[in-house]
Amino acid sequence: MGIDSSDLFGSLFEAPSLVRVVPVLVPLPVPVAYSYAVPEGVHVEPGSVVQVPVGPRQLIGVVWDGDNDDKLDPKKLRPITLVFDCPPLSKEMRDFVDWVARYTLSPPGLVARMAIRAPAALDPEPMVEGLRYLGGQPERLTPARARVLDLAGEEEIPWTRSGLAHAAGVSMSVVDGLTAQGIFETVFLPPPPVVARPDPDYTSPRIEGPQKQASVEILESIRAGGFSTSLIDGVTGSGKTEVYFEAIAETLRRGKQVLILLPEIALTSSFLERFQERFGAKPGEWHSDLAPRMREKVWRGVVTGEVKVVAGARSALFLPFEDLGLIIVDEEHDPAYKQEDRVFYNARDMAVVRARIGDFPIVLVSATPSVESQVNGLAGRYNTVHLPTRFGDAAMPDLHLVDMRRHPPERGGFLSPVLLRAMKKTLERGEQSLLFLNRRGYAPLTLCRVCGHRFQCPQCSSWLVEHRFKSQIQCHQCGYSERTPEACPECGTLDHLVACGPGVERIAEEVEKHFPEARTIVMSSDLLGGVKRMRIELEAIAKGEADIVIGTQLVAKGHNFPLMTLVGIVDADLGLSNGDPRAAERTFQLLSQVTGRAGRTGLKSHGLLQTFQPQHPVMQAIVSGDAGAFYEREIAEREKAILPPFGRLASLIVSAETRADAETHARGLRAAAPKVTGISVLGPAEAPLALVRGRHRFRLLVHGRRNSDMQAFLRAMLENGPKQRGSVQIQLDIDPQSFL
Ligand code: ADP
Ligand code: ZN
Repeated sequence: MGIDSSDLFGSLFEAPSLVRVVPVLVPLPVPVAYSYAVPEGVHVEPGSVVQVPVGPRQLIGVVWDGDNDDKLDPKKLRPITLVFDCPPLSKEMRDFVDWVARYTLSPPGLVARMAIRAPAALDPEPMVEGLRYLGGQPERLTPARARVLDLAGEEEIPWTRSGLAHAAGVSMSVVDGLTAQGIFETVFLPPPPVVARPDPDYTSPRIEGPQKQASVEILESIRAGGFSTSLIDGVTGSGKTEVYFEAIAETLRRGKQVLILLPEIALTSSFLERFQERFGAKPGEWHSDLAPRMREKVWRGVVTGEVKVVAGARSALFLPFEDLGLIIVDEEHDPAYKQEDRVFYNARDMAVVRARIGDFPIVLVSATPSVESQVNGLAGRYNTVHLPTRFGDAAMPDLHLVDMRRHPPERGGFLSPVLLRAMKKTLERGEQSLLFLNRRGYAPLTLCRVCGHRFQCPQCSSWLVEHRFKSQIQCHQCGYSERTPEACPECGTLDHLVACGPGVERIAEEVEKHFPEARTIVMSSDLLGGVKRMRIELEAIAKGEADIVIGTQLVAKGHNFPLMTLVGIVDADLGLSNGDPRAAERTFQLLSQVTGRAGRTGLKSHGLLQTFQPQHPVMQAIVSGDAGAFYEREIAEREKAILPPFGRLASLIVSAETRADAETHARGLRAAAPKVTGISVLGPAEAPLALVRGRHRFRLLVHGRRNSDMQAFLRAMLENGPKQRGSVQIQLDIDPQSFL
């Protein structure tokens, strides 16, 4: 925008400070902040949450740092519409947002959006109506009325209408009747807290044996203050949680807030209860399954500092805490920390960044730490503490491989006689078995026996998975589903569809055949009833109300099943051959975690892993219990191949409605890549998932040496590359975990 003389004179005659211009990040995929005028008499500062007009819409944005473009004439800019009455995002939080945006090459406005909430959350909580006892007697004293008056007369504090009725065990109309007679007056009370305040000294610490040294070291880093990263590397059931509870207690004593990141928080209600036993109150919860009203309350409580501890999924990392003093990342190796949508980020890594910017400690926790964290520990960047044994008399399960070539299942089955025998014995002892298979549905592939037709998703290059409980075939990529057809759509033959391979539902069928009298539960995220049902079922399992549990990875995470003494891995090889450089690591972690469900309370326990590759290093590492040797080998291989964390990767997925458009654009990007030593581009190649939701996908993989400036390289590539036209979209993933 140019300056003409009228602008110049204009600004000479008015005091220019009267109309300010500020940059505002808006929740749109644009690379920079937009400029807005601040109306006279309105106060904003960097971090203020505001409403601004963008085109015909009103959006919520955040006033940002940085100089304004002083060539802009404030009078030609649109003004800020509204400033919300909530504390501004701190400098720390703004720096964090900028950092994440730069690192992930995401639009800063989209990153900032993760830190703020819908307008309802931004306004202060409304006062609640309460009742104050004025004394006096009603005309007629019924027993119900007497109970109300007894309670209300006890103390001088006001009650809420429903609280009083509930406490007195009467209906609200009884209370209303008394109010109408002038015995109560209506007053306004501050809203109740979202969660009670956790008390660091509610119970005394439970720390024994090796836990002592671990907690001493962790507490040292907390008392020292400032940024530090600790890694608690301890087997399942070793007391990692007890140790980090002490770190939380110490941080609470210092008056600071704590964030606990957990994968699958929605399902870990037992964690919340355990926290409550230790601290006398539950932490604030944060996950996608929270009711919207509750989300708003928790958000506000975090911002004002009233909520001291939040236990949340990865998105909780962007909560604008008033005074955050510690982050715990439990199960730090878990792939669920990676978000692959809009802003692609790894919450574990970004949590370390957040702690560094905020200058406070962070504690990573795992029974099977990621190779990245192991390497950081070896290099001395992280302070690693070890908990090598289970707490108390609980022993690790006895693990054995079942060589499926030598002990094949009977025709049409998937469970080896070895595993079936073990299940029978477990059942006879009145204990529980868990069969683990990371495949939802009945069968991963359905085909016609007559013509060989395979059922494929019309929008994706993936097979449709049969879900027999729902009589559907479904696409696990896009969610497409149809009723399982009776006839083959290709050749029309009736009843000739065959299921290939097992899913949990099919294993359940096999189990029912062998153990018709056993109580069997299938746990899979796609079953009806959602999170609520899963919570109930997890509790039922913990109480021993099931004999055999068949589940996908959602049963693997953090649950404590006291009676579970046998874990059978139906297909231990499943994750090993998917083209992912982390396949071995992932398989090792997942299988360790699942087998770790067994024997947590001292009963003798077993794990049986069905495999066709008993010599594979992952299988050997698991049964030998020698995790150290596995990691050593894995680290050496990564180093040789310059793979993370010794090298860096970024993946670009170019997608379009036609294959030609996607391919042409991907080639154009490749051609625009700068020539730099230490960074190379692989591809473009058609992605393994070549078609998703009707979009054709091509993939470029950028590989760089550890210290290369990947971000600068990628920025140059995108800037010099072809203009994004038509249906073309680019997904940029720094440190990718998915190679599909
Ligand atoms: P992890 O987090 O390593 O899986 P947990 O902290 O869940 O281990 O501990 C496993 C079990 O042992 C839990 O039931 C826990 O209550 C119990 N436990 C661990 N340490 C102690 C301790 N020092 N005193 C009493 N119980 C403990
Ligand atoms: Zn699909």
